[in-house]
Amino acid sequence: MQQQVNILTDTLGRKHNYLRISLTEKCNLRCTYCMPSEGVQLSPRQHLMNADEIYNIAKVFVANGVDKIRLTGGEPLVRKDFSEILKRLSTLNTTLSITTNGILVDRFIDDFKTYGLNNINVSLDTLNEEKFNHITRRDQFTKAYNNIHLLIENGFKVKLNIVLIKGFNDNEITDFIKLTKDLLISIRFIEFMPFDGNNWNKSKLVTQHEILEQTTHYFGANQLIKLQNEQNFTSRDYKIIGYKGEFGIISSVSNPFCDGCNRIRLTANGKIKNCLFSNNETDILTALRNQESIENYIAKAIYKKLPVRGGMDSFESFNDPKKHSKNRSMITIGG
Ligand code: SAM
Ligand code: SF4
Repeated sequence: MQQQVNILTDTLGRKHNYLRISLTEKCNLRCTYCMPSEGVQLSPRQHLMNADEIYNIAKVFVANGVDKIRLTGGEPLVRKDFSEILKRLSTLNTTLSITTNGILVDRFIDDFKTYGLNNINVSLDTLNEEKFNHITRRDQFTKAYNNIHLLIENGFKVKLNIVLIKGFNDNEITDFIKLTKDLLISIRFIEFMPFDGNNWNKSKLVTQHEILEQTTHYFGANQLIKLQNEQNFTSRDYKIIGYKGEFGIISSVSNPFCDGCNRIRLTANGKIKNCLFSNNETDILTALRNQESIENYIAKAIYKKLPVRGGMDSFESFNDPKKHSKNRSMITIGG
């Protein structure tokens, strides 16, 4: 194995300072693009990281250069010991953020404030209640919608995640952007990605190109400002002149951003995934429980990271289901 300067730097020199921790495989919604209709095989409880283990693993990552942690899932807020986990992670020297469906957010406003969790991404794929019930297979639209406003009123930095699916919500693109006229939020359109059991196919994809085409057609090309990409960006961001908020496009399928990837994922059952699209996993929970050095395992996981989308290096590779259907379902990865 080639000598690595730092265990979080891969063979292409990409530094992984951003750890996304999935706290649970469970969820209070059943989004069709994330959770297969038959559900998923949940890990036995004893195979999941407990609060101490999450903290201890995160501490090793932080000691090696991680300075940004995002909590995700499944739905991270369904975890009974969420507040305890947040409290412990807040003692590490990182920024803290969360991706949530928003349903339980009102119960945690005080905890978010106390422990410095300010960046909150909420998933909401439609502004129409019936469509929400259809895509999530649950009837919690009002709760999700009101909680988004509650977060904004409380001064959190809110981003809305929208997975676009052709024929389902691509007719709401401009409605979502119109929300940014008066609300200081960031809308992020995410290209629908293939995972085990989510019935993905290319015809359901709404590409970056199509999103921009619709937007410029509706608002006028001269009303659209391209914003500077953030460092290690996933989202290419824009703004409509005079609007308070902004919008962005996460084009993982049609226009990937792997060159600047700084993300590493830890699943709820303690496996490192070095790429969302990779089915290669490294078990660090077992190593931790065996009191081995987990740094060696982290180094191996980073070393194996491929240049682009876990090996799916062209748009054409999405034509071959064998290449993308052997990955976990998204709900058990942590998006
Ligand atoms: N439950 C939380 C939520 O929904 O925000 C966190 C977990 S969810 C797996 C994280 C993100 O992954 C969400 O924004 C969700 O929309 C996104 N996601 C899930 N399946 C996806 C897919 N097939 N393609 C693109 N994004 C997906
Ligand atoms: Fe649950 Fe989030 Fe997956 Fe929807 S996208 S099923 S809310 S984990």
